[in-house]
Amino acid sequence: MNSTSTLVFTSVLAMSSASAGVLPDNQTQSVWFQDGQAKIAEITQKPVAYDEAKNVILFIGDGMGISTQTAARIFVGQSQINHQGGEEFLLSFEQFPYTALAKTYNTDMQVPDSAGTMTAMVTGVKTRAGMLSVSDYIDRGDCGVEAATLKTSLEYASERGMNTGIVSTARITHATPAATYAHISDRGWESGVPEDCNGKVKDIALQLVESDSAIDIVFGGGRRSFEPSGEGLSGRRTDARNLIQEWIDTAPAQRQFVDTASAMKDLPVGSEQQVLGLFSDSHMEYELHREGTTQPSLTEMTDTALNHLLADNDGFYLMVESGRIDHGHHAGIAKLALTETEQFHQTISHTVQKLADANQLDDTLIIVTADHSHVMTMAGYQQRGNPILGLAAGASGNVLAKDDKPYTTLGYANGPGALTTFNEGERVDLTDVNTQADDFQQQALVPLSSETHAGEDVAIYAMGPGAQWFNGLVEQNYIYHVINRTLSLQGRRYE
Ligand SMILES: [Zn+2]
Repeated sequence: MNSTSTLVFTSVLAMSSASAGVLPDNQTQSVWFQDGQAKIAEITQKPVAYDEAKNVILFIGDGMGISTQTAARIFVGQSQINHQGGEEFLLSFEQFPYTALAKTYNTDMQVPDSAGTMTAMVTGVKTRAGMLSVSDYIDRGDCGVEAATLKTSLEYASERGMNTGIVSTARITHATPAATYAHISDRGWESGVPEDCNGKVKDIALQLVESDSAIDIVFGGGRRSFEPSGEGLSGRRTDARNLIQEWIDTAPAQRQFVDTASAMKDLPVGSEQQVLGLFSDSHMEYELHREGTTQPSLTEMTDTALNHLLADNDGFYLMVESGRIDHGHHAGIAKLALTETEQFHQTISHTVQKLADANQLDDTLIIVTADHSHVMTMAGYQQRGNPILGLAAGASGNVLAKDDKPYTTLGYANGPGALTTFNEGERVDLTDVNTQADDFQQQALVPLSSETHAGEDVAIYAMGPGAQWFNGLVEQNYIYHVINRTLSLQGRRYE
């Protein structure tokens, strides 16, 4: 049947159930129908965005695959009184007008890691897993990187006189933030390099403090890579250097170091100030466990970064990573990943409001994406509004599997949860288990000490100038090219 006859066939069917040309009332008066009509009205009135931006913010939810996003949307929706089941809720960035899907593979891996994926997003070039902003004609672990070095969009923006910032809840030397400033063939070389590479390449922490681009605002975890190791010390450096002190001493009048949320908020805001904030030895605390620490939230770090970046009028480049969605999944604990995603959603809505208040929203390209997915799945067939962290249940109670036991909506294809999923070959009965507890590990199939990344595409959401270029299915390195074009880095109007 060709497409013309399909159309004829469909309209004959429609005529048989309602008068020709008229839709039944129960259809047009449905809230679903009216929502769809409202969306059509909104889209057809969407103004054509300018294609040159003064500022850009790249938000990365590390490991925030689409199943994570859907589950987090329901999780946040279920915590809000005005929402029915949670399913109809929208996270802040899900309301952005433009979307695309990104293919995340590395040049040597079907399912990627964060180093190769972030390199793609900030240099426009895909590379091998484990390598940071160097191209793949060298191998992971090669000392010499000079000929393979790729200039990042942050470095390019800095050369063009823009203010720059990076914010992460992971160690600031960890793969995602490090790809914006470091050029190295192994993401593991955070505080030192192997002996045979000594003198040939600098470790990641050293590259950050000695970078020519001098990033204006750096907030995250990972103090240990900047401080010397030794008896009673938490530092990791074996060269006895204290890079924090060296960084301050290089320009004491312009540089501020902070290590607590309150010190960060008390900082004087001035366009000539550079700020380094390292709030924990390793990764920062999960949002679920942050209370009682001196660490700021992702929203607070981003808010302070924006205060500084907005202080002069040169435009800015800001990268914000929610680094621990990924770690919650690796631990097989979905609640950790969802509460991190909730904080990420709040950070983005706060940012949009703050830019609007500063009259900078129309000049700012905002991109929200993930570097890769995770193997968390969302199973059926529970009723609408069933707690997203609960057992799948219908009107007449828990849905039972072939082993007559209930199962959770969220589960993992692999990971540490598989070690406690089975007892002598039988799946453990979850009937009386609190699956919404903070430390509950979802059941998993394949036992691994750490749950793995997943290889399906991730979403890209965008608003502001240039956002209209996000459409369809793209390679992940395309993100760089939109930023480059939108900031006109090759001939900037906002200089
Ligand atoms: Zn990971």
